[in-house]
Amino acid sequence: MTEPSTNSTAPKLAVPRLLTGQKAIVTGANSGIGRGVALALGEAGADVVVNYVVDDAAAQAVVDQLQAFGVKAMKIKADVSDEDQVVAMFKQMIEAFGTVDILVANAGLQRDSAFKDMTLAQWNKVIGVNLTGQFLCAREAVREFSRRGVVPSISCAAGKIICMSSVHQEIPWAGHANYASSKGGIKQLMESLAQEVAPLKIRVNAIAPGAIRTPINTSAWSTPEAYKALMTLVPYGRIGEPEDIARAAVWLASDQSDYVVGTTLFVDGGMTLYPGFATGG
Ligand code: NAD
Repeated sequence: MTEPSTNSTAPKLAVPRLLTGQKAIVTGANSGIGRGVALALGEAGADVVVNYVVDDAAAQAVVDQLQAFGVKAMKIKADVSDEDQVVAMFKQMIEAFGTVDILVANAGLQRDSAFKDMTLAQWNKVIGVNLTGQFLCAREAVREFSRRGVVPSISCAAGKIICMSSVHQEIPWAGHANYASSKGGIKQLMESLAQEVAPLKIRVNAIAPGAIRTPINTSAWSTPEAYKALMTLVPYGRIGEPEDIARAAVWLASDQSDYVVGTTLFVDGGMTLYPGFATGG
């Protein structure tokens, strides 16, 4: 048997042009999954707002890459947990692009701690960005979607929201109670919102990534030992790449998934299949 490496066997696939003429905003789009999603939406033909809160140069690099696809792109700095900044960001986007068709509420972070040592600041930070941030962005998107309604030449739906959740909306995670709570909250936020706005032809869904190679979890994949340990949790036997999530996001944002409403799409290599039971139980 070959030694596990930290290299992935993820396929390199072209992104179909399913989103021509649509206007998308991706939060936390200057890094990791958000960056991958923003680039794929652009490759699929959407004009894209790259939201970021730190590292202007990384956001500009994503904008430059998007423009090379021949779509419009702009970066907007805003903290998604701040109501005024989120309202201003959507206003700026609508002034520049005319409207919003797709929101990918992706920004997120971890502040890990043993429960007895967890500070209120650690708790509030994670809930504020991961959960309240999605509420604030989704609310602005829904306001614009319902104001504009369906434009048949653009999409069958009046708008699409994709919430970036996690396998930890299902899998408890000791030492990460704030993060797991935020993702469990996203499940109910997404489903309740989906139920409420489906009659307006707004589709709300979520993606629950498993282990994806990004800066948020470098310690889980950056050494062969860590990667080998991680693989005991992934039946499919490789780490996920941002492109794995990005292709799912393009599909969920497109009319190809028009009847998909209120669903969480797990993109996790089987992590939620209780891999510990593969040889026992
Ligand atoms: P990442 O750290 O590379 O990206 C997170 C992004 O969110 C960064 O651009 C960061 O600057 C941004 N961000 C943080 N706070 C913000 C704020 N207040 N306002 C705006 N942006 C802010 O990590 P990632 O892995 O790409 O994470 C993206 C999303 O995917 C997160 O919601 C995360 O919980 C989720 N996720 C990641 C994994 C994984 O294995 N990488 C697994 C499950 C879920």
